[in-house]
Amino acid sequence: MSELHNKSVADLAAMLKNKEVSAVEVATRFLARMGGNPHNAFLDIHSEVTLAQAQASDDKIAAGTAGPLEGVPIAHKDIFVTQDFATTAGSKILQDYRSPFDATVVTRLRDAGMVTLGKLNCDEFAMGSANENSAYGAVTNPWDITRIPGGSSGGSAAAVAARLTPAATGTDTGGSIRQPAAFCGITGIKPTYGRASRYGMVAFASSLDQAGPMARSAEDCALLLSAMCGPDLDRDSTSLNVAKEDFSLGLMQPLQGVRVGIPSEFFGEGLASDVRSTIDTALKQLQAQGAKLVPIALPRTELSIPVYYIIAPAEASSNLSRFDGVKFGHRAKEFSDLADMYERTRSEAFGDEVKRRIMIGAYVLSHGYYDAYYLQAQKIRRMIADDFQQAFSQCDVIAGPVAPTTAWKLGDKSDDPLANYLADIFTLPASLAGLPGMSLPVGFGENGMPVGMQLIGNYLQEARLLNVAHQYQLHTDHHTQAPGGAA
Ligand code: GLN
Repeated sequence: MSELHNKSVADLAAMLKNKEVSAVEVATRFLARMGGNPHNAFLDIHSEVTLAQAQASDDKIAAGTAGPLEGVPIAHKDIFVTQDFATTAGSKILQDYRSPFDATVVTRLRDAGMVTLGKLNCDEFAMGSANENSAYGAVTNPWDITRIPGGSSGGSAAAVAARLTPAATGTDTGGSIRQPAAFCGITGIKPTYGRASRYGMVAFASSLDQAGPMARSAEDCALLLSAMCGPDLDRDSTSLNVAKEDFSLGLMQPLQGVRVGIPSEFFGEGLASDVRSTIDTALKQLQAQGAKLVPIALPRTELSIPVYYIIAPAEASSNLSRFDGVKFGHRAKEFSDLADMYERTRSEAFGDEVKRRIMIGAYVLSHGYYDAYYLQAQKIRRMIADDFQQAFSQCDVIAGPVAPTTAWKLGDKSDDPLANYLADIFTLPASLAGLPGMSLPVGFGENGMPVGMQLIGNYLQEARLLNVAHQYQLHTDHHTQAPGGAA
């Protein structure tokens, strides 16, 4: 039983179903591991809620009415609103906020039988690449606690890597599932924009935000994604009307003849040599399994940085106007009139990065600058999406690095927003195009930190990505490695 926390989602689901272990036992094991809040990964824990959910799962298993993932624990990024746990979005402005409803993704995973362990730390409003923008403190990387876990879903990635939970939800606006998954040596997938409902996800940039699972393997991600996705047309106007899919079904297809596109722009000067050589080895492995490597071009890759950092702040400035001290969350104690109350509330409770983005967003949307910045950015966004369509006429999936380097040291880039933005170069293009993307662990860099490989698919091709990743994982063991002391 000592290995319970090392079990995969798939194994735990099978063990629970066969009554080899109870949901209460499993939950108790993970709650014990979460004690003392290692890595500052969790923002809210209520063991009585978790144990009550686990007991309900045990009752369902006994009654023969269990869901596919009945009794398997999961923890949610604190961007998803929850009734039974506080939702802060990593911000002081929502300190102790309790939502009157659950996000659709949370409800769907509960319906599949999953037991909630708690809420996970993240960058404030999911703005960041290092989890250093959380109002509740940084998260440390379980592979080296002097380093960042990546962001914005840093708590999710650290918790899965440290075996505090077998699985977590994340959200990805410009890379926030893929990059922390890469930095913490786990697997994560961002589905096609619109696949997972945004209902109950605290909005950052609505045209980019997407939910997805983070776990140790592609097989586990397939199980989780199958439960999370599906139309939610009444509640999310951008939800795709595409039937639910069982992403586990295609995992066993051999890689023979699969065309893997290699964008030259992802392997340029900015890519650290240890990341490059680790990715090269992984690509050779895919080749050895029958895949064909095809050179492709994504010529506007570099432009994705200015385009994203115009569009995302523009949408954020509009979305975050709801935090005014009136409707929910923090309100300044002293103020002279209504305008003063707004100003003091927002000045006190938003962090620096959030303020920076609200200001940039308001600027690029303002009269006189709208055409010069926002409209231009939208036009280039369309071209970036077109470039991908051109590429997908030559290949089935695209492969490359997730980030130019491995996880950097805590504090290294915390005073340099631009350095953080530049590190997003390889994840932003798929986000701007609304394409599915994933990260899987493929080895370690010179400093012993995990390296992630990114796979990008055409619209609705999640099953293909998970298939390629699973086939790779059948032949390699990077996804089974645990940071020292965690196992
Ligand atoms: N690092 C990017 C940003 O800071 C992406 C964040 C995200 O995907 N939520 O905006």
